[in-house]
Amino acid sequence: PVHRTPEIQEARLKLPILAEEQVVMEAINDNPIVIICGETGSGKTTQVPQFLYEAGYASSGGIIGITEPRRVAAVSMSQRVAKEMNLSHRVVSYQIRYEGNVTDETQIKFMTDGVLLKEIQKDFLLSKYKVIIIDEAHERSMYTDILIGLLSRIVPLRHKKGLPLKLIIMSATLRVEDFTANTRLFSVQPPVIQVDARQFPVTVHFNKKTPLDDYSGECFRKVCKIHRMLPAGGILVFLTGQAEVHSLCRRLRKAFPYQKNSTAGGEDDREDSVEEMRKFKSSRKRRRVLTLPKIDLNNYSVLPPDEGDEDRDFDSDDDAAGSDLDLDLGDGDSGEDEKSDSSLPLYVLPLYSLLAPEKQAKVFRPAPAGTRLCVVATNVAETSLTIPGIKYVVDSGREKRRCYDRVTGVSSFRVCWVSQASAQQRAGRAGRTEPGHCYRLYSSAVFMDFEKFSAPEITKRPVEDLILQMKALNIEKVINFPFPSPPPTEALAAAEELLIALGALKEPPMTGRLKQQLAAKLSCPISPLGRVMATFPVAPRYAKMLALSRQQQCLPYTITIVSAMTVRELFEELDRPAGSEEEAAQLKARRARFLQIQKVWAGQGPMQKLGDLMVMLGAVGACEYSGCTREFCEQNGLRHKAMLEIRRLRGQLTTAVNSVCRDAGLYVDPKMEPPTEAQVTYLRQIVLAGLGDHLARRVQAEEQLDDKWKNAYKTALLEDPVFIHPSSVLFKELPEFVVYQEIVETTKLYMKGVSAVEPE
Ligand code: ADP
Ligand code: MG
Repeated sequence: PVHRTPEIQEARLKLPILAEEQVVMEAINDNPIVIICGETGSGKTTQVPQFLYEAGYASSGGIIGITEPRRVAAVSMSQRVAKEMNLSHRVVSYQIRYEGNVTDETQIKFMTDGVLLKEIQKDFLLSKYKVIIIDEAHERSMYTDILIGLLSRIVPLRHKKGLPLKLIIMSATLRVEDFTANTRLFSVQPPVIQVDARQFPVTVHFNKKTPLDDYSGECFRKVCKIHRMLPAGGILVFLTGQAEVHSLCRRLRKAFPYQKNSTAGGEDDREDSVEEMRKFKSSRKRRRVLTLPKIDLNNYSVLPPDEGDEDRDFDSDDDAAGSDLDLDLGDGDSGEDEKSDSSLPLYVLPLYSLLAPEKQAKVFRPAPAGTRLCVVATNVAETSLTIPGIKYVVDSGREKRRCYDRVTGVSSFRVCWVSQASAQQRAGRAGRTEPGHCYRLYSSAVFMDFEKFSAPEITKRPVEDLILQMKALNIEKVINFPFPSPPPTEALAAAEELLIALGALKEPPMTGRLKQQLAAKLSCPISPLGRVMATFPVAPRYAKMLALSRQQQCLPYTITIVSAMTVRELFEELDRPAGSEEEAAQLKARRARFLQIQKVWAGQGPMQKLGDLMVMLGAVGACEYSGCTREFCEQNGLRHKAMLEIRRLRGQLTTAVNSVCRDAGLYVDPKMEPPTEAQVTYLRQIVLAGLGDHLARRVQAEEQLDDKWKNAYKTALLEDPVFIHPSSVLFKELPEFVVYQEIVETTKLYMKGVSAVEPE
C-alpha cells in the first residue's frame, strides 16, 4: 500500500486522470497495448505509473519503465512520483545518459528513450520490465518512434514466451493515427483511451501586427502590461533560446525588481498593498483611468483561429480605453516600462533545457509572497513540464530548431514558426488552474499559415546512429522495419554509405555502381568493428575513433575528446546582445580573456595542429585539475553543467571500452597529463579516421576565384565554400587540410571543432 500525505492526495484528486483510473486499468489488464491521450497536465506522467504500481505490476521483481524524450522530464518526474508516493529514490529512480540513481530496489524507472534503446541491445526481450510506458509520444522524437517500432515486435514475443509485457503509449494530443492506423506496426489496432481534459477556457488574443524581428521586445512590453494591469496569476513567456531567455529575464528584473527581504509584513497584507499600489499606479495614468480591463469571468472563450477577430475582448479604437493590452502605447510609454518599479515585484525565472537542474526546479515552487511569478521559457514548457499557477501565456510563436540537410548533415539553427498544434499547446498552459489568457504576438492570418503539426524528428535528421543501433540488433533490411513514419530513403542510403565507409557495415563485395545500388538497398550486415562501435553510447564517427585508439596509450585522450564533442557547448555563450554599453564592454572583456585562455589550452608547436580538439582536451584537463568546481568554470568561460556531463561520460566510456577489451585495463585518471607530441600526432590520425568524410581543403589559387572564396575551404559534399568559424583557434592559421566536427550555417557555412590533418 502507498502512504500519501493528505496534501498530495488532495492535489491528485483534482487531476482528470484520477477519475479514469478504473477505465485505464481495465484497458491495460485486457489489452497488451493501450494508447492514452490526455491534455498536458491531466496527470498522465505522474499518475499512470502509480496506478500500475498499486495494481501490482511492480511486485515480484518486475519493473515499470517510463521513457521520456527529454532528460529534464525524466529527472523531474521521477522525483515528483517518489515524493507523491512517499517512496525513496532507490525505488522510484531515473536513468539518463550521463547519470541515474537506479538500484536493485528500483520498481519504477524513468529514463530517456535513448537509454531504453541501449537496453534492448543487451536484452532484446526487456525481461526485467513488466510494463513499458512510452511517454510524450506526440513529440515524435526519433528514439521514441523506433522504440514503438521495436516494441510492436517485442510485445508478441514476450506473450509467446508466457511472460507478457504491457505497452502503454501516452500522448498529449489526439493525433495518434500514425500508431493506430498503421497495420504494419500493430496488426490489431490498440484501444485509445481519451482522458477528458479538465481544462479551463483560455481566451486567445492575436496581435494585429506581426513583429518580424523584435519579438523579444514585444514580449517585454506585453509582460509589462499584463503585470501592471491584470489581476494576479503567473505569466509564462515562450521564446526560442537561452540567450533570448536570459536577456528578457534581465530586462524584466530591472523593470520590476524584487528584493528577497522586502516581504516584511504578513503575506496577505503584502499582497493587498501590492494590489492597491497597482490600482493606484494605473489610476495615475490618464489614459488608463477609465477602463481597467474588465475580465468577465463568465464569458471566456477560445477563439477559433479562423474567426480572425483579433483582440476582440480588448478592442477599442480610441485612446481613452488605455486598457487594451494590444494598444500601442506610443513611444514615450516604452521608456516608462524600462524604468524600474520596485512597488510591483515580479519573480522572474528562466527555464530551458541546458539550465542547471536545481534552477529548473525553482519553477515548481510557489513565488515569494507579494510577487507575481513570470517564467521565461523555451519550448521545454510546452508539454513536458507543467508549471503551476500560470494564468497568462505570452507566445512569440517561434522556436529554435536544429535543421539538417539530410544528405550532407550540415545543420543550422533556425528560428522558425511553431506548428499550430504547438501554439495550441502553449495556449493551453494558461488554463490549468483557472480561466486564462494567451497573447499571441502574431496575427491570426500568420497563424493560419503555420503547418498543422511538426514533422516527426526521424524524417528530418541524419540517421546513421539509429541505423547502426538497428544493425546491431540484427535488423539488416532497415527498409522493412515497421517505422511509425519511415525516414526518407536518401537519408537511409546516406547513413548506410557512411557506415560502410567507417567499416561498421560489411562492404558489398563489388565496386562502383553496383556497390552503390546494393548500399541503396540498405541491407548490409554489421561488421565486427560495427558491433564494437555500437556498444559505445556516442555517434558512429566518434565510436570509430574509440575503436581505433588502443595504441600509444591514446585511449584516455580519445575518450576525453569524444566526450567533449558529444556533450557539445562546453564554452559559455557570449554571443548575446548586451543590454547596456557597460554590459557590452564587460562582455567584450570576457570574450577577450577566454580567447586568451583557450590559446593556452591549444598548446604549442605540433600540439596546436590538433586545433579545437586540443582546446577541448586542455579545457577538460585544466578543469579536472581544479576539481571541476563551479568557480573554475566561471573564471574560465566553461559551462559547469557541461563539464560535469563530460566527466560522467568519460567514466561511462571508460567502462564501455574496458568491457570490450578486457586487456586494456583502462582507468580514466580525472587528472590526466597532457599528451606527448607523438600522442598528438597519433590522435590526429585517429581523428582523421573518424571524421574522414568531414575533410576540407583550403582552396587553391584563391586569387583567381571571386571574393566569396577568400580564406575558404572546399569539401566533397558541398558546392559552396565553407569557412573556419571565428571561434576556432585555427581561424587565423588556415591549414591546408582540416577535418571538422560539424558545419553550421549562419551567415556562411562555418566549420566548428576543427583540427589540421595530413591525409595520405
Ligand atoms: P501530464 O503528464 O498529463 O502532462 P503530469 O502528470 O506531468 O501531467 O502533471 C500532473 C500535475 O502534477 C500537474 O498539475 C503538475 O503541475 C503537477 N506536477 C508535476 N511535477 C511537479 C513538481 N515537481 N512539483 C509540483 N507539481 C508537479
Ligand atoms: Mg506528461
